[in-house]
Amino acid sequence: MPPFVKQDSATGRAAGPDDTPVTLPEALAEVLNTHCGLPSLPSVVMQIVTLADSPDTNLQEFTAVIERDPALTLRMLGLANSVFHAYDTPVETCHEAITRLGVDATLSVALGFGLAQQQSTRVPGLDLNRFWQRALISALTSHMLAKHLAHPSPGRAFTLGLLQDIGMLALDACLPRGYAALLSSTEHHEALSAAELKAWGCDHALVGAWLAQHWGLPKRLVRGIADSHLPLAQTTTEQRCVNASGPLAEAWLDGLAESVSADDTLMIRILQRLSSTLEIDQDALIERLCGLQDTLPTTAELMHITCPVGFDAIGTLLRAKQQLHAHHLKLSQQLLDQHLELERLHQRQADLTQRVRHDTLTGLYNRAHLEALLEQHFREALDQRLALSLVFIDLDFFKQLNDRYGHRLGDEVLKGFAGLLRELMSPTVLGGRYGGEEFLLFLPGGGREAATRLAETLQQRMATHALARSVDHSEIRVSASMGVVSLADGDFVDADDLIQAADQAMYVAKRAGRGRIVHYGDGAVFRDQSHSA
Ligand code: GH3
Ligand code: MG
Ligand code: MG
Repeated sequence: MPPFVKQDSATGRAAGPDDTPVTLPEALAEVLNTHCGLPSLPSVVMQIVTLADSPDTNLQEFTAVIERDPALTLRMLGLANSVFHAYDTPVETCHEAITRLGVDATLSVALGFGLAQQQSTRVPGLDLNRFWQRALISALTSHMLAKHLAHPSPGRAFTLGLLQDIGMLALDACLPRGYAALLSSTEHHEALSAAELKAWGCDHALVGAWLAQHWGLPKRLVRGIADSHLPLAQTTTEQRCVNASGPLAEAWLDGLAESVSADDTLMIRILQRLSSTLEIDQDALIERLCGLQDTLPTTAELMHITCPVGFDAIGTLLRAKQQLHAHHLKLSQQLLDQHLELERLHQRQADLTQRVRHDTLTGLYNRAHLEALLEQHFREALDQRLALSLVFIDLDFFKQLNDRYGHRLGDEVLKGFAGLLRELMSPTVLGGRYGGEEFLLFLPGGGREAATRLAETLQQRMATHALARSVDHSEIRVSASMGVVSLADGDFVDADDLIQAADQAMYVAKRAGRGRIVHYGDGAVFRDQSHSA
């Protein structure tokens, strides 16, 4: 976590948008202020940095500043002639060189020239070669990201990338022993930053900002350095490029430090995080990093830095893809599991619905569902002036049957009867078990005639079909009393009213001797085919 964003005025605050000057915790400020070995920038380099930060600067102004320093001019000419060998004519003037190199490269030469030169004044503790390698990769990465994101000042992103950790140089120079101990006890940059905060009340980002301010660098650079540890999500696009560059450079160098076969999980992790935060395609990011490798040697040479070996871009890409693939596989498996679980739930739901709607003995619709279904058809028939009729069926002398053959066989008879009913059912003939040995059939769209025909068919089948066999294999046949009612027979208020009417008709049939069909309202006996068990 960047310490400075949370710091109050007592511990020192970074120059924020309000341009408040950077102040350091008192004790630390005193050490830094009184130390004469602070890293410094030659005035010519400071002027170049300031010029590069201004959008109005023209190359003429750069030339004027650089020409004041013959050694720097020589470097510019050398670079312009060596790297850009595609040009036929060698450049001869500083202006030509700068024109050819552009502002960014000019700046990197100047900064490299000014800063990395100070390696001679090194103090044991900070590995300066690694420090500058990291700074260089950071600068190039930050620049590359800014360009990729079409940010208007990739040059400043470069400068900030390079200078973001400059505070480490100051701490290393002014507090050599303490800083050496801190460096050796922390494994990575973030931990170092936390340890610095604990030891001195601020981390090197703030010290770097203070140093930049001390040098008189433009405020935007001071602020950029101070904010260089802010989480990516909390910063501007430019600052993101800078802040992302550090961890990437570290992963790059750490990857190299490990054995050839070491996997670069760290690099891949950082790439994944960056590509999602900066919304850059990961492959594009790796491709751009490969591009950086080509620029690296020249820039490293300019800064007198041992060139870091290029990272294994193809390997990294391949492993990143493998990881992504593994991740996808895991996700697909999870998806499949969820799908199966959902199917199981659906099946359970279907089973429950089946159980709720059906009678367990016969498998026919049960009373509750029959009533609901009939009510639905009753409303529909009323609304659309459709016919609807109902047959109430009660098996005759069922108690006697149970008493004679036993309850188990009674069950078999009920199942056998359900089989007969099922044969009669269709989309226009619905039915089920109303209770005990009572059953319903109803005909949406069917009137009295159709219902009567249906009841007669059932009666005939009951007469000719055995519903079960007794233990001595004798066939068991049963008769039924049936009441028929149709919607047209009266002013029925609901489905239950209709059922009551059919029930009444059925009782008339019982009283008339059973085994017959009676129509509601006229009490007529349609047929007398009484069969008892
Ligand atoms: P009725 O001709 O007047 O209808 O005479 P019944 O004996 O059929 O009528 P009652 O209402 O007196 O008796 C119904 C019998 O049906 C009594 C009850 O034990 C039996 N019963 C109800 N449900 C079941 C069942 O699930 N299995 C068996 N085996 N018998 C049942
Ligand atoms: Mg009964
Ligand atoms: Mg009965």
